[in-house]
Amino acid sequence: MMDFLVYPGEENTVLIVDDDKLMVSALSQILSTKYTVYVARDGFDALDVAKELLPDIILLDIIMPGMNGYEVITSLKKDQATRNIPVIFVSGLDEIADEVKGLRLGAADYMNKPFTSEMVRLRVGNQIKILNQMRIIEHLSITDPLTGVANRRKFNSTLDAEWKRASKLGLPLGLMLIDVDFFKKCNDTYGHLKGDEVLKSVAGIVKGRAKRTSDFVARWGGEEFAVVLPETDIGGATSLAEDIREAVKSFDFSDILGEDAGITISAGVASIIPIRDGSISKFVNTVDEALYHAKRSGRDRVSAAPL
Ligand code: GH3
Ligand code: MG
Ligand code: MG
Repeated sequence: MMDFLVYPGEENTVLIVDDDKLMVSALSQILSTKYTVYVARDGFDALDVAKELLPDIILLDIIMPGMNGYEVITSLKKDQATRNIPVIFVSGLDEIADEVKGLRLGAADYMNKPFTSEMVRLRVGNQIKILNQMRIIEHLSITDPLTGVANRRKFNSTLDAEWKRASKLGLPLGLMLIDVDFFKKCNDTYGHLKGDEVLKSVAGIVKGRAKRTSDFVARWGGEEFAVVLPETDIGGATSLAEDIREAVKSFDFSDILGEDAGITISAGVASIIPIRDGSISKFVNTVDEALYHAKRSGRDRVSAAPL
């Protein structure tokens, strides 16, 4: 197992939804040795807790006063935030039709009361295993394997989402593209593997400087990085780019290259208050042009696009 991809120290969480106190305490006892357990005593509470705490899995009773389990799962499936949480029905209804109904509504599994503790552990364990494997795959699909920052695919979806958010709220959205100067020469001089190490360090520097939680760093292409900067105007984007440029320039690459090879970067930045149906690719092009302006003007510099 690729244990470096499993978030260390993080315990999986289970939400138990049942109006029956004894049932809740039995299930909690079985599951709390391995998972963090949350409890909801009715359907309304379950929806609130699910939305707020986003448990990894939900054990859901069917017959409850007020809102039954079928209604709860229907609501969970309607909400983007909770629709992918696997639900296991734990029910006193043991007709095949009840089970089929539960599965049709999107349940991952269905078990009957009475249950044994081993059966609960195994069924919950199965779902958790699938979930954790999905997370690893998801993580791999959005991560650049060399540098560990987000990949181009994740960059595209993030920029898209931030564009929508900024246009809705009328807020500025900054974007920065970074390109390592004369990187081909670095590869030619020190070899590709050393070049790879340089890229890792540059990614680390960029990540270390783009410190706001909303700042988003991705590898855009070979030796190019992109930083999406929500709520950042052109002044802010430019000064962050300057900061990164300085940090790369003053970073001592001699541990990697045996000498301080004078690695520098060039960057292009822009900021826009997007309109909903505005062209994202046009915005990216503008930043790309600014980057090439920085290159043409001598490299090791930042260029801001007039917008
Ligand atoms: P400029 O200052 O104009 O950007 O010059 P440059 O040499 O950096 O630009 P160019 O586009 O000519 O070369 C980019 C180089 O980056 C060529 C390519 O082999 C190298 N490169 C791209 N991806 C990787 C990678 O993953 N590892 C290594 N070591 N090199 C890479
Ligand atoms: Mg390049
Ligand atoms: Mg380059």
